[in-house]
Amino acid sequence: MAQENFLSKKIGFLKGVGPAKEALLQKELKIFTFGDLLLHFPFRYIDRTQVYKISDLNTDLPFIQLSGIVKNIRIQGQKRGMRLTAKLEDSSGTIELVWFQKIRWVQEYLKEGQRYLVFGRPSQFNNRWNIVHPEMDLLSEPKPQPGKSLNLQPVYNTTEKLRARGLDSKGLEKLQKTLVADAIPYIQENLPSAMLEKYKLMPRQEAFRQIHFPEDADKMERSRSRLKFEELFYVQLQLLRSKQLRQQNFPGQILKKVGSYFSRFYEELLPFQLTGAQKRVLKEIRADVKSGRQMNRLLQGDVGSGKTIVAFMSMLIAIDNCKQAALIAPTEILASQHYNTLTAMSTGLNLTIKLLTGSTPAAERKELHKALQAGEVNVLAGTHALLQETVRFKDLALVVIDEQHRFGVAQRAAMWTKNEVPPHVLVMTATPIPRTLAMTFYGDLDTSVIDELPPGRKEIITRHITEGKRLRLLNFLKQKIKEGRQVYIVYPLIEESEKMDYANLMDGYEMIIREFPRPEYQVSIVHGRQKSAEKEFEMQRFKKGETQIMVATTVIEVGVDVPNATVMVIENAERFGLSQLHQLRGRVGRGAEQSYCFLASGYKLSRESRLRLDTMVRTNNGFEIAETDLQLRGPGDMAGTKQSGMMDFRVADLAKDQKILQLARHTALQIMETDPALEAPAHQVLHRYLKRQEKDQFNWSLIS
Ligand code: ADP
Ligand code: MG
Repeated sequence: MAQENFLSKKIGFLKGVGPAKEALLQKELKIFTFGDLLLHFPFRYIDRTQVYKISDLNTDLPFIQLSGIVKNIRIQGQKRGMRLTAKLEDSSGTIELVWFQKIRWVQEYLKEGQRYLVFGRPSQFNNRWNIVHPEMDLLSEPKPQPGKSLNLQPVYNTTEKLRARGLDSKGLEKLQKTLVADAIPYIQENLPSAMLEKYKLMPRQEAFRQIHFPEDADKMERSRSRLKFEELFYVQLQLLRSKQLRQQNFPGQILKKVGSYFSRFYEELLPFQLTGAQKRVLKEIRADVKSGRQMNRLLQGDVGSGKTIVAFMSMLIAIDNCKQAALIAPTEILASQHYNTLTAMSTGLNLTIKLLTGSTPAAERKELHKALQAGEVNVLAGTHALLQETVRFKDLALVVIDEQHRFGVAQRAAMWTKNEVPPHVLVMTATPIPRTLAMTFYGDLDTSVIDELPPGRKEIITRHITEGKRLRLLNFLKQKIKEGRQVYIVYPLIEESEKMDYANLMDGYEMIIREFPRPEYQVSIVHGRQKSAEKEFEMQRFKKGETQIMVATTVIEVGVDVPNATVMVIENAERFGLSQLHQLRGRVGRGAEQSYCFLASGYKLSRESRLRLDTMVRTNNGFEIAETDLQLRGPGDMAGTKQSGMMDFRVADLAKDQKILQLARHTALQIMETDPALEAPAHQVLHRYLKRQEKDQFNWSLIS
């Protein structure tokens, strides 16, 4: 089709793109065709007409313009550390301007007492604002003239190599100018017109024009909203369609009855009353597994909300129906922890539970394979080792995935093939994840939430402490140990600074031993450089209460369960991420005693670190913490999502576009309910676009 041809023209055919630039665009930005360039949207705009007041600055603002009087021009430092600084003052305050380069030139140009129009990216240093290497324009008049031509100048992502070839943002803007007008007529609408009308979405051609060269701020916003909606909507439509296809193509194991294993456990062996939320989730799972459709369910719940027992009882349903169950964990420590928990819970039930990890010896493994196929093993716990082809079951009916790092759809799918009729899958998240991420990452799953903690849990009291409070902290620890409680002291261990971190840990350990001398006190230490056996030995000592203090790196982050430990001290807390802090804090507060968490840091903190620590002090709610984490880090950096590619959106941002995502999901759901095959005439446009996308994805995978 001629229309398609224009957009699929090689980028080398564009005026201004020679062979060298063509090669670079392909390599650096994956721009092969006219269409690819068109999809290379600006990631922000420079507003050349707006002048801010210094007092209005906040960290959300990218590049901005200020107007003020220059004062205090100074040369500071020497040689390589030399820099030129000046103060800029407007009616609302002052800000520092800094140059490290071209100092002589700036010195000649800048005049104290003159008014300048200043353009640059403000940043905060030691709680004060500054702009490094601002652009300066001398102003003869106090107010700048509003720009007559373009208000919003697009800023494009580019790379060092492209810049060296003249393809900086301005260079790319020039290419877009050559392309956009000619290409627009070839852009096809991909949403039904009723949808455009209902949600007041900008037509697609108009949106492509406005996103590159907006006439004003409002049109820019609307073009971005429209393209965000389109992007999120199609992801949702694909997720829901694959869910539907799966349900059509895969019959589910029918786990009809609740039998004696489940009943006996529930009536005689359950160590506590289930919470209302746990009961509700069990009912949801129960309804799924007897429906005849394959279950794919996400189980969300905060640290300590009791997901494990729900998983275990679901397994009992499988066993009641003469089938097997499996549990996969992300690490060996966690897998063996789960194995121990399951074994303990099944006391009195006469079940066979086995463990399989990367370090299971070959001979044992062979035995295990046989036993699995003979159906002699009821439950297999393990790591990724379980996914291997050689691991086959007699009749696997339920797989529980306890994940800290997100498994991708592909890995989940690997489990579906473990059985003739695919097993039901229950995915448990280690920590809560924000709704927008869940909708996208697990959008093809049904969701259950345990939104209630077991009764009698007291809020963990969390305090942020700085150096001056050390002595008081040590006294507090002694007091708690006297009362019979145990204490964790955790040090960060970041790969990049591993050596220093170990030194730090050892210094801390020695200090603790001095403060808590034997024989009155016993101190354990656990870190990644120890052998597994050594680690295990120390863990057990602590668990049995033989040591009162556990000094550790983050190896204890997940899974450790010692209810008598009620105090968690986190050293250099500013270096931990929010979900890590929340996980660590979750190691205490597991019994009836009041628990405490102390976040120790130096005095000087970046804005982000302070926000993280404040959030921890303010709330114990994992969902709230996850939400803040997403706002701070953005979706691309959230644990485990990076590799997946799921979060690579062109315009949408899961941290900010919750409303649009909800609308997109809602719309996609409605369509799947009323016209799942997309047969209605109004939905032809969707069908066609999906087909083309599938084709593109296919081609792309062949290339890479
Ligand atoms: P998580 O959801 O973080 O995996 P766990 O399943 O490890 O939480 O449960 C945390 C602790 O709470 C465990 O010691 C468990 O035995 C206990 N627990 C779970 N459910 C209840 C309940 N309904 N009542 C009392 N304690 C419970
Ligand atoms: Mg758990």
